[in-house]
Amino acid sequence: MQLNVSNMPEFHSGWVWLVGAGPGDPGLLTVHAVNALQQADVVVYDALVNEEILQLAPAGALREYAGKRGGKPSPQQRDISLKLVEFARAGKKVCRLKGGDPFVFGRGGEEALTLVENNIPFRIVPGISAGIGGLAYAGIPVTHRDTNHNVTFLTGHDAGGVVPDAIDWESVAKGSPVIVMYMAMKHVDSIARKLLDAGRSPDEPIAFVCNATTPEMRVHETTLGNIGDLEGLSPPAIVVLGEVVRMRSALDWLGAMEGRILEKNPLGNRLTSQSA
Ligand code: SAH
Repeated sequence: MQLNVSNMPEFHSGWVWLVGAGPGDPGLLTVHAVNALQQADVVVYDALVNEEILQLAPAGALREYAGKRGGKPSPQQRDISLKLVEFARAGKKVCRLKGGDPFVFGRGGEEALTLVENNIPFRIVPGISAGIGGLAYAGIPVTHRDTNHNVTFLTGHDAGGVVPDAIDWESVAKGSPVIVMYMAMKHVDSIARKLLDAGRSPDEPIAFVCNATTPEMRVHETTLGNIGDLEGLSPPAIVVLGEVVRMRSALDWLGAMEGRILEKNPLGNRLTSQSA
């Protein structure tokens, strides 16, 4: 059976669709996201959305950049939200395009609340989040039965740009075998310190997955106790701590396409398949 795209929702004038663009690779857009872009009059997009994806909007669509650019201050979140309201009131079909998933550290909720306040009808199109899909491109599963039954997603800096106080680092360190960190590169040393102080092992593997799913993707693996110099790495990066990082030696499918020999038993003696 074929997917009937003509059954996809129609984008009505005066609506805002908050759309996740995925982590970068255009192939990771959802069908709903493509459908949204193809009907949009206006695309309001963020820094992490790539050019190729923007090309899916009609040639005449207005493309409005809403992220940081070259040292200029970024537009205030409130201004972006109000801009969406303005476009919608002008009768546009407004596609608000965000990297990854709009509700994962993407302020999608804040923007949607402004739409609610202003009685603007909207739709949410979830996307593949960098902390899951980006890691999959690096050959790192966020859960694996032999290593973890839970996972924590956190942000490495809060609205003020510092390591969030609101995170109970000790509890995270104790309760979460795998920690996936967004926006964490800048403060990774102080985050590592907090996790080590709370008892995490310095030998635990940690990976930095930069520009995940794009042609510029780079993966750097090290250990929590020896993070060292990250100068060669450029953001955006997802940082992942935990035993799942070891799976990469077996599951680096992109590397395998370039000739990497995959290890058959990445976790040593632990069972990797048949356990209940
Ligand atoms: N809503 C997005 C996250 C926005 S916060 C999502 O669901 O993916 C921005 C952070 O996301 C970046 O600082 C980085 O940590 C991460 N990120 C987004 N795209 C990425 C990519 N292609 N590669 C690595 N990290 C990425």
